Amino acid sequence: QAFELFDMTALLRSAVAWVAKAQMQDVEIVFDLPERLEVAGHPGHLHQVVMNLVQNAIDAMVDAPRKTLELHGHRDVGREGDRVTVTIRDSGPGIPDAIRDRVFDPFFTTKPVGKGTGLGLSISYQIVHDHGGALEAANHPAGGALFTLTLPAPDERA
Ligand code: ADP
Ligand code: MG
Repeated sequence: QAFELFDMTALLRSAVAWVAKAQMQDVEIVFDLPERLEVAGHPGHLHQVVMNLVQNAIDAMVDAPRKTLELHGHRDVGREGDRVTVTIRDSGPGIPDAIRDRVFDPFFTTKPVGKGTGLGLSISYQIVHDHGGALEAANHPAGGALFTLTLPAPDERA
């Protein structure tokens, strides 16, 4: 598969705009992103990952009194080269401890038949690992689920 350089900030904004049109009228969206965030990868596949995470966040907030979606991204220096980190946080109930280990399993879903396939996170996990990155599920101490996506950052001189 062909990797190319692209702007993760633009990808995050367009993915959210896409979902927002259909179903996010009452969701407050907070972007905390640099003007540009260069990533090397397969933009179509990473777009799918972001869409899966955003869709899950929206699903998790259906009954939430306040719906807030926060997207954060930054590049930082790591021991084994620079990394790009993206976090997506929602204001839903968070991921119950009892299922935390299983959310990335293929076909694992807590959604009713027809609403969820249980494949979104397992496919996303696979895509991110094919990029040499990592995808982690956690809960924010102040509430809501927090997904962290890390990718190796492209060489700045490239
Ligand atoms: P699906 O969305 O089809 O259920 P996924 O693989 O995308 O499948 O997610 C698996 C499960 O992980 C969900 O059914 C849900 O129980 C849990 N989950 C995923 N994202 C969130 C989130 N943002 N908040 C709470 N639970 C979540
Ligand atoms: Mg899903």
